[in-house]
Amino acid sequence: MPDALPPLREVIAKYELRAKKQLGQNFLLDLNLTSKIARRAGDLAQCDVLEIGPGPGGLTRALLMEGARHVVAIERDARCLPALAEIEAAYPGRLTVLEGDALALDPLPHLTPPIRIVANLPYNVGTELLLRWLTPDTWPPFWQSLTLMFQKEVAERIVAQPGSKAYGRLSILAQWRCDARLAFTLPPQAFTPPPKVSSAVVQLDRLEAPRYPADPQILSDVVARAFNQRRKMLRASLRGLLPDIEEVLTGVGIAPTQRAEEIGLEAFCALARAVAERR
Ligand code: SAM
Repeated sequence: MPDALPPLREVIAKYELRAKKQLGQNFLLDLNLTSKIARRAGDLAQCDVLEIGPGPGGLTRALLMEGARHVVAIERDARCLPALAEIEAAYPGRLTVLEGDALALDPLPHLTPPIRIVANLPYNVGTELLLRWLTPDTWPPFWQSLTLMFQKEVAERIVAQPGSKAYGRLSILAQWRCDARLAFTLPPQAFTPPPKVSSAVVQLDRLEAPRYPADPQILSDVVARAFNQRRKMLRASLRGLLPDIEEVLTGVGIAPTQRAEEIGLEAFCALARAVAERR
């Protein structure tokens, strides 16, 4: 059932929201698609939702229609604010729009747990936001789940398994403390204007505790070094970590001649623990 608000094409024409490339503006105008994303986020009725980059408000409307208790949306482009104000008026008390940069603004004072994050992310800040959400100072984080649209290539890196080219730091940081799934992909034509590449929605549900114990800083450091030189053997890429790195690798069952992309999450965590013991 569509809401009582005008179709998004009319909204875009009325407020002259010509897409700006530098803001990563590729809008979803089909309410069936935005509703599909909102439904993928799970039961929203008891949750506050944080949305980054509502733009003209297609996904925002779907989140509200799907019953989100309260949506807090951060938008950098002031041109979108009048369109979002119309949505605020149609759903009194259920939408809070914050104007600003999602990398700089703290939305937490406006949110009440449980909190889900749902967004069609601007490609230029998407990975940085995800990394921040995945690496808070304490775990569990302020959010329950992330339902995020990325370029398909980034989505594949998040859910990648060892042995694939896409497997790397993002896969490990995501899968260490979350269930990470690729929900569905969308072709460029689903967006206005169409981007150059396909997109995909990833669903990340936080685990209450990490899958395997490890110090977050040390794991992140080990993984960053290992994948920075992903074609090198680990004994070379991790040389700077500890003088006796070959011994440490062997001690946790990793051959020093192996490469980062062959090593699973559990082994990386064991390595991080062994490094922690030597420090
Ligand atoms: N949610 C809308 C949709 O699905 O049609 C728009 C998605 S569009 C891919 C990304 C949106 O993020 C744009 O509205 C853009 O203005 C906004 N944006 C870009 N950079 C931002 C930032 N640093 N902080 C907040 N919003 C940003």
